[in-house]
Amino acid sequence: QPIQGKYAVTLIPGDAFTGIGPEISHAVKAIYAAAEVPIEWEEVSVTPVLKGGKTVIPDAAITSVKRNTVALKGPLATPIGKGHVSLNLTLRRTFNLFANVRPCVSIKGFKTAYDDVNTVLIRENTEGEYSGIEHEIVDGVVQSIKLITWQASERVARYAFHYAQANGRRRVTAVHKANIMKMSDGMFLAACREVSGDFPNIAYDEDLLDRVCLQVCQNPRPYADRVMVMPNLYGDILSDMCAGLIGGLGLTPSGNIGRDASIFEAVHGSAPDIAEFGANPIRKIGKGLANPTALLLSSLMMLRHMNLNTYAERIEKAALSTIAEGKTITGDLGGKATTKEFTDAIVKRLHAQ
Ligand code: NAD
Repeated sequence: QPIQGKYAVTLIPGDAFTGIGPEISHAVKAIYAAAEVPIEWEEVSVTPVLKGGKTVIPDAAITSVKRNTVALKGPLATPIGKGHVSLNLTLRRTFNLFANVRPCVSIKGFKTAYDDVNTVLIRENTEGEYSGIEHEIVDGVVQSIKLITWQASERVARYAFHYAQANGRRRVTAVHKANIMKMSDGMFLAACREVSGDFPNIAYDEDLLDRVCLQVCQNPRPYADRVMVMPNLYGDILSDMCAGLIGGLGLTPSGNIGRDASIFEAVHGSAPDIAEFGANPIRKIGKGLANPTALLLSSLMMLRHMNLNTYAERIEKAALSTIAEGKTITGDLGGKATTKEFTDAIVKRLHAQ
């Protein structure tokens, strides 16, 4: 519900110093202010705190997302190795963010190998290879458990069919490796098949992950009329591949759709190599190199989720035409503009609209 005409939305800017999160979040805020979007940002930090001997996300952040039910999130680095919780995983589990929607659409006027990419990939977001259950059986032998449940498979499959129906896509393709993982991926497919029975107007088929990778790279066109749904890890990898087809990670948005909340975020990570202070906080290695488009497009998915479609369209037009014009674009897209110059160019277009 809007309060005094404005909707409260939680903003998690992402890691400061070693990540590009705060820089790109700042750009989104500036663009929203220029477009007069009726949103009140409630900024929270998810830097872990100690509670009962465990590192957890601060209560204030959890309460804010619970209350607002929508959040925009900058990237958070996941420390590699033992003893660290992945904050991204914790957020997904805390709010039951069961489906990760990743659209990849060619930007008109921005030249890449293909100009007709329009894929939508829906990734199961809570289990699979990301169950985090790993142990050493004996010295030198480690086992990692890929967990697939009927409940989570059925839930994400149903979401994929609903998404196809609501967005005018006529087919759902389940992407799998059931030829090798007969029981786990086999059950994922069985759940998709069962759900497909409830959607007679949407065609359904299944394809192997490796074949899909090859086919999408050779000719993405046939994927423009469908939704692909798949277990967690496959979605992680295939979506980066699709991002490569439209100009890279700086351009691809995503939405984590959940039972208790929905959190929108870029597909990319914290990009420590181009962060404000670089991976080393003492040595300033770069500034303004980050492309805020992926986070901006994620925020537009959020606006559409909130039925604020007119604002989303206005901002999308301003951002995409700035990229298409090619004069003020960031380095990852082959330009020379800083994050701020690119943001200012979008703001200028919004004022001129
Ligand atoms: P990354 O996505 O951060 O970076 C990959 C490459 O893409 C880098 O060269 C980077 O400079 C470039 N890039 C990414 N976003 C860009 C942008 N907006 N503009 C311009 N260039 C951009 O992947 P990584 O380096 O493997 O991961 C870094 C950290 O991010 C890791 O700790 C990882 O766990 C974390 N991560 C977080 C999320 C998330 O918060 N959802 C997602 C993926 C990775």
